[in-house]
Amino acid sequence: MIRSIISEQTFRTNGMVPDARLNRILRQMVRRSFPRLRRRAIAIGWGAEDELFYYMADAEQYLIAVNRSFEEAPTRVLEGGIAHELCHIDADLRLGIYPRELAWNRYSESWWYRIRNERATEQQAIALGYGRHLLDLIRYARRLGYTFAREHGLFYAEILRAEAIRARAREGLLLPSSRTHTGWDDASSSGLRFHAGAGG
Ligand SMILES: [Zn+2]
Repeated sequence: MIRSIISEQTFRTNGMVPDARLNRILRQMVRRSFPRLRRRAIAIGWGAEDELFYYMADAEQYLIAVNRSFEEAPTRVLEGGIAHELCHIDADLRLGIYPRELAWNRYSESWWYRIRNERATEQQAIALGYGRHLLDLIRYARRLGYTFAREHGLFYAEILRAEAIRARAREGLLLPSSRTHTGWDDASSSGLRFHAGAGG
């Protein structure tokens, strides 16, 4: 059976059960990666039924619900799903209230819009450093019997590729500083020469 993994339902409240661990993970992620969300009211708890993760919004209040089948999930798996939802919320908040409603309508009406939106959301999560987390999430969900479709975001191989590109870009960025280290090595080796000279 194909079940959807990540989707968003707006203006629907259901009995979400708060959880201290989820809340701790969420706060830490907001502090680390989502500065714009620091002052926002975002609640999290167990409650998604047909989905693994989703978020709901009411004017100023956001809720992230996580499926109970993830109760035993490692932190990194939960972080993958939460990063995805926080990227949605962050993008939402950059829109005004009216454009946000328009975007939600388009999201529910257009398959193409949904796909574009989900892919952009995952690209953003990868850019923030959560690519490995998304990969762990997909693997974990597959073991539980969930299947991924294009509507849920990027495929496993696409995330892997994006991660590889990011890693290469990082290596490129590190080159200048590794030249600096060579300079330090020279300094320390002259220090050693001095030391050897002093001993002899
Ligand atoms: Zn999504």
